[in-house]
Amino acid sequence: MAGMQVALRIRPMSVAELQRGARPIAHRLDEQVVVLRDPMQNSDNVLHASRSREKSYVFDAAFDSTSTQETVYRATTRGLIASIISGCNATIFAYGPTGCGKTYTMLGTNSEPGICARALGDLFHAIEECSSDAEHEVSMSYLEIYNEVIRDLLSPSPHSLQLWEDSRGTVRVVGITELSASSTEEVLRLLLRGNQQRTQEPTAANHTSSRSHAVLQVTARGRGLRCGRLQLIDLAGSERAAWTRNRGQRMKEGAHINRSLLALGNCIKALSKPAGSAHVNYRDSKLTRLLKDSLGGNSHTVMIAHISPASTAFEESRSTLTYAQLAKSIRPTVKHNLLSSSPHGRIVANLRGDIQHFKHQLYTATGPGKHRAIHYTQAQVQLQDKLLNACHEQAALCQHLVQLEGTALHTQLAAARHLRILTRWKRRAWRWGKEGQGKPGGPSESRRNTDTDVPEPASVIAARESFMALVEKQGRLQEQKAELERRFQQSQQHTRRLEEAVQRRSSSVQQQELLALLCRLHQLQLHNAELRSHSLLQGGFRHFPATAVQPFNQHRAPRAAELEEREEPLDAKRRKKQLLPFEVSNHGAGPAPTAQLRRGDRPKDLQQGQVEPPVLSRAPC
Ligand code: ADP
Ligand code: MG
Repeated sequence: MAGMQVALRIRPMSVAELQRGARPIAHRLDEQVVVLRDPMQNSDNVLHASRSREKSYVFDAAFDSTSTQETVYRATTRGLIASIISGCNATIFAYGPTGCGKTYTMLGTNSEPGICARALGDLFHAIEECSSDAEHEVSMSYLEIYNEVIRDLLSPSPHSLQLWEDSRGTVRVVGITELSASSTEEVLRLLLRGNQQRTQEPTAANHTSSRSHAVLQVTARGRGLRCGRLQLIDLAGSERAAWTRNRGQRMKEGAHINRSLLALGNCIKALSKPAGSAHVNYRDSKLTRLLKDSLGGNSHTVMIAHISPASTAFEESRSTLTYAQLAKSIRPTVKHNLLSSSPHGRIVANLRGDIQHFKHQLYTATGPGKHRAIHYTQAQVQLQDKLLNACHEQAALCQHLVQLEGTALHTQLAAARHLRILTRWKRRAWRWGKEGQGKPGGPSESRRNTDTDVPEPASVIAARESFMALVEKQGRLQEQKAELERRFQQSQQHTRRLEEAVQRRSSSVQQQELLALLCRLHQLQLHNAELRSHSLLQGGFRHFPATAVQPFNQHRAPRAAELEEREEPLDAKRRKKQLLPFEVSNHGAGPAPTAQLRRGDRPKDLQQGQVEPPVLSRAPC
């Protein structure tokens, strides 16, 4: 699994909650931290007496009543649209008890549209902006899972739909209506039509409670191999049956809902273990079977958990936060800021991970208060000095790494520019060679089907030389980067060990102070790295997608252009087959081309002396 991002949204207090005299107990502390206070403090209840009063939870993003629909969309979903167009899958879940804002987040209102409308709008917009080379066809299906029965919301019928798993393990819904759409308005109209079919019943928690899981699937098929799928899922409420005073049918629904959410939780738990160490049981519910690809496959997955801020919803909020925390812990690496296409993404992600680690410790550390005078022994001071020095060393290495990445990116882009000249020339020379126009000897000689006879202009010779020099430089930079990354990792481990030693010898108040300091230090580093990224982007690569430069990361045939000159002339048929697929396209305003490999190209052919060893233009998911 590519890793799950988890966001948490606290909705505003409702009128009903205020009328019941509820107080707000859930607060967003900063853009990632949420605190939940137990309203039963000082209670005589022995079950509550031993509980600490407040608990903090750290997520990839946290929103409260002041956060707009636009903010939530930008932070969780917008960054995934480009990857869908380039052939990746993405899934957004809305999770939480009934009445906490799941449908509001996903669908929204006319004046405050939710994630579905915004994502579809951006998807169509992005498709329009693509060159004709990347024609896309968009289709959608919309279904609900109610009481473990799948219903088609676009073509309602009393018959339920069945899931079918093909020999490659891909799960499909047999006979589901898949309608093609050409505009956001069209999809939204279909979505509205489908929503009217959704099973909704009033519960005590919400007048129009959705009792089913609704799954909207939007597929963008490009020419060739690309086929990206966006799944937007409004899960049914996760509340306990007791709270909604559900009886009879509602109680049965509750059991089914809980069964699928429990199955989802179990899958998430199993997926969090090292690959292969735990069996992931998707078969326990229709929901998990359907989501098999999104959970276990190559998909970007975002969960937006929802809670109410009210004291009356404490238990539900606590269990939602715990569930969401579990989902978050399955990520192999901490990746925040889904939207950032920073050239230094990995470094930034690393630093954010460190900050999250410190914050988590800081907020979960218990202590008698922050304002007591703190006394340190000499040994403690020395150890802390060591730790700060180690942090500074880590920061210096990080700076160096950021600089090196910047230089490497510039080199790649310059190489790409020269490569574009070479590729254009190669095509032209081949065409001339074929038509017999490019050489003084006339058509008869040119029919030898070799383009090496066509004299190269000075600009092409210069481009070839520059390209070779840049490829060599890139090789050196890669070596330096690998060495620096190794040292950075060592330094990180050293810092962690010192940090643990300091913590072992400190009181909780001292620890808190130290953790706050470390947090601050890492935040400064992060700020610095982001500033550098920003200035690099400002410096001419603003519109250059990170994925587009990836092919140039992998110059596995550094002397390819030189080899090409020496290669045996190929017969015209084979040459045509090999050369024509390399279409140089330049999406966006960026200066460099992306060489795209079409269906039927084989890696073997590439090693035989083509100018560029491109990779499939499918973005890495
Ligand atoms: P759920 O789908 O989780 O059952 P809803 O999305 O239907 O909950 O939300 C319940 C009520 O709360 C609705 O009236 C909705 O408009 C309101 N609501 C939820 N979240 C927000 C929010 N962030 N801002 C304003 N109103 C909200
Ligand atoms: Mg709902």
